Amino acid sequence: MTIQEEVKKRKTFAIISHPDAGKTTLTEKLLLFGNLIRSAGTVKGKKSGKFATSDWMEIEKQRGISVTSSVMNFPYKGHQVNILDTPGHEDFSEDTYRTLTAVDSVVMIIDATKGIEAQTIKLFKVCRMRGIPIFTFINKLDREGRQPLELLEEIEQVLNIETYPMNWPVGMGKRFLGIFNRFDKNFVKYNGNEEETYIAYDELDKPEHKELVEHPTYQETVEELELLDEAGDLFSLDAVLAGEQTPVFFGSALAPFGVQTFFDTFISMAPAPVPRKTTEGVMSPDNPDFSGFIFKIQANMNPAHRDRVAFLRVCSGKFERGMNVKLARTEKTIKLSQSQQFVASSRDTIEEAYAGDIIGIYDPNAYRIGDTLIEGKDQFEYDELPQFPPEQFKRVTAKNVMKSKQFKKGIEQLVQEGAIQLLKGYRTETYILGAVGELQYEVFEYRMKNEYNVEVMFESIGERIPRWLKEEQVDETIFDERSMLVRGREGEPIVLFKSDFALRWFKDKHPDIDLIDLLDVN
Ligand code: GDP
Repeated sequence: MTIQEEVKKRKTFAIISHPDAGKTTLTEKLLLFGNLIRSAGTVKGKKSGKFATSDWMEIEKQRGISVTSSVMNFPYKGHQVNILDTPGHEDFSEDTYRTLTAVDSVVMIIDATKGIEAQTIKLFKVCRMRGIPIFTFINKLDREGRQPLELLEEIEQVLNIETYPMNWPVGMGKRFLGIFNRFDKNFVKYNGNEEETYIAYDELDKPEHKELVEHPTYQETVEELELLDEAGDLFSLDAVLAGEQTPVFFGSALAPFGVQTFFDTFISMAPAPVPRKTTEGVMSPDNPDFSGFIFKIQANMNPAHRDRVAFLRVCSGKFERGMNVKLARTEKTIKLSQSQQFVASSRDTIEEAYAGDIIGIYDPNAYRIGDTLIEGKDQFEYDELPQFPPEQFKRVTAKNVMKSKQFKKGIEQLVQEGAIQLLKGYRTETYILGAVGELQYEVFEYRMKNEYNVEVMFESIGERIPRWLKEEQVDETIFDERSMLVRGREGEPIVLFKSDFALRWFKDKHPDIDLIDLLDVN
């Protein structure tokens, strides 16, 4: 197969959602389609230690998650599917955001009973910023939830994206009868735990469907559907691929219901790898020379094996084990001898990979997040990974003041590696660590102790809303505890607002000060 054919087959995506919306349940169903697992419950089963066989990372092990589930890949109907995990719950971290730089599309799950929730908004914004196509799955239709129209309206208003319902539910919860498949022009009948049945639109008037068709809920929905056909937005694949319209699917991951149709449609519409921006113009995925970038580095917490694995997204050419590549930042040559592809159940060595694939490569302490690796003579780098706004802040000091040299060295390296963000007092040398999730502090503390032999102490500043501002607009007298002034990694001024209220209050009071939100997409 040519490189071009290999690339065209690849569908690399992540599933984003707020905790408990059903990401694990949906992923599990997809893995069943891919024959990657044999029974549902296996993915959650990792909590029982099933997958935690490696001593890979102590903290991950304690939390019952495993690095092996970071990427799941399987062949499906002629495609090669790569699903990247986006850790949520207490494992939410900058890595979750960074993962989104390595995918070509995203599935956003929304719980029909809750609508859009906080974490979904944050993850959505990152996708939006990067123009990633977003496919929406509204889950838990088997429960009494919010009205479909209301949910669509919420998506449009809160997320500011056009929606196109690919299917339309008839009832919900106890009255849930099934869905109209607007694209395939059939009705999918919900039979509880039994398998779903498909009825073509033109067969609905057959006598055996009389009971369904005369059901009041069905009648109401037909009217709704007509309205939607007349007044709703038109479907546009171009708008979807530009990240401006999201196709919406209703279903239940648990039942499962509507999952197969969703996945088949998604796979047929989701983009294969497209050209990516570099410092020297765009790079085509079918360019014969291998290239890729590192979006995540996982340090081994086991002191006996202090190796690290870098997660690399292949962007062009063909990766072959043992090949020599150039690290663009230093222009040094590195041999990629150890490589792994991550499958749900094991870490397999891989021999070759193409654009869209994610590989794990042994990191001889040479890589940084965002690094570009290239084969051949060219010299370029993929677009720098964006800086994501931290949400939690802690002052950090060494327990033993005698260790301050080691302390500084450790912080410097861990920050450079992208493990955590460093801020400083506006006028002081106080170290403040910013993180997206608590896990980042745990990893930091653990690694400082084990790799730099420094015990650290934290003093929490709490959750804060950071806004960047221009040095020339800083008037130190207007900031206080609720709007704390600090400096970022380049020395730039940042205000940490204690709450939404504090932020709004400040904006009212000082309307001429520009406050920059890193996740602002508009
Ligand atoms: P995650 O945190 O997003 O991975 O969510 P899970 O997949 O773990 O699901 C959270 C809870 O919602 C679990 O108890 C699931 O059984 C339940 N759940 C997931 N999908 C559905 C669904 O379609 N219907 C119902 N009723 N419950 C669901």
